[in-house]
Amino acid sequence: MLPEIPEPAHLKAQRLNEFYGEADAARIIAVSLQEFGTGLAAVSSFGADSAILLHLIAQVQPSLPVLFLQTNKHFTATLRYQAQLVQELGLTDVRDLLPDVSALKTHDPLGALCLTDKDRCCDLRKTQPLALGVAPFQAWFTGRKQSQAATRNSLPAFEAVGQHIRINPLKDWGTEQLEAYREAHHLPPHPLVEQGYRSIGCMPCTRAVSDGEDQRAGRWAGSVKTECGIHLNGLEQHLQHNGIKGAGA
Ligand code: SF4
Repeated sequence: MLPEIPEPAHLKAQRLNEFYGEADAARIIAVSLQEFGTGLAAVSSFGADSAILLHLIAQVQPSLPVLFLQTNKHFTATLRYQAQLVQELGLTDVRDLLPDVSALKTHDPLGALCLTDKDRCCDLRKTQPLALGVAPFQAWFTGRKQSQAATRNSLPAFEAVGQHIRINPLKDWGTEQLEAYREAHHLPPHPLVEQGYRSIGCMPCTRAVSDGEDQRAGRWAGSVKTECGIHLNGLEQHLQHNGIKGAGA
């Protein structure tokens, strides 16, 4: 008997989009749990809208691994919010992904690289740790949404990232739906939201936004940078460069 050939990730993503691409978030989460089992995780920034995806996950599998990029550049408010959500939602497997200590010593000994080379800083503190963190998993959830920025307006539910699959259950949720869900389930807001922060990342690279601005306009404001690299080709390149393959992918 011939060995079974794993379905390539881009074909699997295509198949899942055909069947479930327009399903609601809870259905996408349920289908993903069925499809990927223990090969599934979630990546969360514990930012402005993170409580919604985490709540949806906690309803069906609070033990799902949740990966958090601990860049050591977060607002203290974000770290407090992370602890609050973990406790209130009953999440039992939240994992901090840390930058490589020797790489930081070599390339960012003063911790000021974000002031001079943001791409390199994001690579060291986000993309490389995430590549190692997601490597054991076939697929992972993100909280990305089409409404967050013009660069995300064609975001699908399932996307191939090398031999892995990234899943965006909230892809078509807008502000009103997010707020309604948050209120219906009494989810605590990130403390910085009331100060005008709508997309919250590292402290040195995040500012509040004004009415009418893209939610992500406060990220790397004043530079051409709009994404940190973890959702762009950088992650795929690191996975390939390191020879990292997803479990069973
Ligand atoms: S968002 Fe800013 S501080 Fe955070 S890793 Fe990227 S450049 Fe560095």
